[in-house]
Amino acid sequence: MTKLPLQAQGPLLEVQNLRKSFGPHEVLRGIDLAVMSGERVAIIGGSGSGKSTLLRCLNFMEVPTQGRIALDGRLLGRPGRDGSTVYPEGELCGVRRRVGMVFQQFNLFPHMTAVENVMEALVTVKGAPRRQARARAEAELGKVGLGDKHDAYPSRLSGGQQQRVAIARALAMDPEILLFDEPTSSLDPELVGEVLRVIRGLAEEGRTMLLVTHELGFAYHFATKVVFLADGRFYEVGTPDEVLKHPRGERTRTFLARHS
Ligand code: ADP
Ligand code: MG
Repeated sequence: MTKLPLQAQGPLLEVQNLRKSFGPHEVLRGIDLAVMSGERVAIIGGSGSGKSTLLRCLNFMEVPTQGRIALDGRLLGRPGRDGSTVYPEGELCGVRRRVGMVFQQFNLFPHMTAVENVMEALVTVKGAPRRQARARAEAELGKVGLGDKHDAYPSRLSGGQQQRVAIARALAMDPEILLFDEPTSSLDPELVGEVLRVIRGLAEEGRTMLLVTHELGFAYHFATKVVFLADGRFYEVGTPDEVLKHPRGERTRTFLARHS
């Protein structure tokens, strides 16, 4: 992969004044974020603070109430009448392929084997021939350490294995950005490590990632930038050392004290 030096490029992902309300409830109240290629952002914050909503907006599963999102310098959607952005469905299909997402609950298809789960979007979204999709899916499963589980159904896999299938599925689409929404939160403690190891491997490959997590020790080593979300805003942003070891804000300190 040939890449320009970082400083010659603008942000891969840029978010300006992103707002999201559900009825009268304003969950995101003006988020600004620029993510350079190869950056890894850890997002922390209390339950209900809007972490999932933010990732879902970045993956266009939710339409922001206001604000702008640009991918690789290109603004997405067009302005609607009320200050919102209108996303034409045709444009979203293309964009969703560029932004991969891994969910807390894995979201695998229960009636499909591991390899079929990874193949599915390659065939239906990318239009890959089945043989080619299968080969790619098998390669991705091998990379997450599941080379011997191609034909297993999700119900026969542990939570950690299911999550690794979900990561393989996201990787098969060649995303430019990977979003992880608490990928280890529903795992038994002894299975957390195998998933974090895979994520660490992706970091070593230089992938651009946003990770919502309560694993603060992992976030410290993983992230190039940490943001603490509170009251719908980025209450504190900085290096892992700044935010996790030397927080300036009172609320960040309280949160960290509760989660350490
Ligand atoms: P977090 O991931 O930080 O726990 P969420 O983004 O899931 O928080 O939710 C933030 C707030 O938005 C919560 O109060 C939640 O109830 C609300 N919310 C999330 N999704 C919806 C929805 N589809 N409809 C209404 N309210 C929602
Ligand atoms: Mg959440």
